[in-house]
Amino acid sequence: MSAYDSPAAAETHPHADGGGADPTLAFARAIPTVYAAEAIVDLEAIRHNIRTFRAHYPQGKIMAAVKADAFGHGAPASAKAALEGGADLLGFARLSEALQLRATGEEAPMFAWLNDVPDFARHARAHDIDISVSGLENLRAVAAEDTGVNVHLEVETGLNRGGTVAAEWAVLVAEAARFEAEGALQIRGIWSHLSHAGDLDAERTRAQSDRLQEAIAIARAAGLNPEFTHLANSSGVSLIDPALYNMVRLGAGVYGIDEAGIGLRHAMTLTARVMQVKRAFAGEGVSYSHTYTLERDTTLALIAVGYADGLPWAAAGKAEVWLGGKRRRVAGRISMDQIMVDLGDDAVVEGDTAILFGPGSQGEPTVSEWAAWAGTLEHEIYCGIGARIKRRYIN
Ligand SMILES: *Cc1c(COP(=O)(O)O)cnc(C)c1O
Repeated sequence: MSAYDSPAAAETHPHADGGGADPTLAFARAIPTVYAAEAIVDLEAIRHNIRTFRAHYPQGKIMAAVKADAFGHGAPASAKAALEGGADLLGFARLSEALQLRATGEEAPMFAWLNDVPDFARHARAHDIDISVSGLENLRAVAAEDTGVNVHLEVETGLNRGGTVAAEWAVLVAEAARFEAEGALQIRGIWSHLSHAGDLDAERTRAQSDRLQEAIAIARAAGLNPEFTHLANSSGVSLIDPALYNMVRLGAGVYGIDEAGIGLRHAMTLTARVMQVKRAFAGEGVSYSHTYTLERDTTLALIAVGYADGLPWAAAGKAEVWLGGKRRRVAGRISMDQIMVDLGDDAVVEGDTAILFGPGSQGEPTVSEWAAWAGTLEHEIYCGIGARIKRRYIN
């Protein structure tokens, strides 16, 4: 099988698009990156996941977090799918991420909780993005820009990350009410973030919710009337009292990371092609430092994906892939760009496709298994899928 037998490669074959004067350079401009590896993103899984959350949370707004390029899935397409599935607005860690998606023409309501650009209030106001304020200094900086921007006040309730501490809260809301009356900004929300939702720790979660409710009461007494209050992330939806808040911020669950076990589907399938097949012999070692030695003769497949593409190096020794209708062990260390797979005496040919992880429906490993093999989180693996991996959208 040659490279040009692949339909994906044929799409970008130099002769298919005219090629230009120098066919080699024309080819380089349109390299068929899918030839080595691609991440297939099932947009219907994203829609399904939002609909699943909606069934658990019928009454409020759903914010789909598309930070970090939608956890590696690609923000523009993932945002569209989430909105089609019923999400009401889009969430971002950094304002710059929200501005970048706005620049692609996305018109949905947006909220970002870290103000990482100069003159952030002005840019947020100009592009209709709600921002967060984490404390007094931050509030005064926003007010100084005098834009009327929409602000959600972040309350520290136990995570000890961002947010206004209890001792500062009364002063902050009093100033916020004054700035609002002057038109310098608009207090649109009050929110906090959970520390133990992923552990499904209902007790600590309730304590945080109680603190946030107290903060909201103080803010109301100071004359603020926030349209939105929000606390839960994906795993928190099943832990908080839904009557207390009218918005949730969902990230991991949108992409299928199912911490609360509510029937979410993984959206990403990572595939890679077999680049070489060869026999190797009993007693030989495979890959760097020969951590894997062959007890018998075997067939090895080389797959062009490695830790530079986001496969965790720490998964070596445990990792498996789906190839030729079965799970196979990854033989030895994961290299920067390649892994070796032990096929035994089974036949696989160059050009066949291996599945590194997917929804698990065919028996292939899931990202959750990779995370366990590497001692990390699914989140980290998704976010680490590298720029060399072409994203292809289906459904
Ligand atoms: C990432 C993030 C979320 C989404 O959390 P998930 O656990 O991924 O659903 C919500 N809020 C904040 C502040 C976040 O940083």
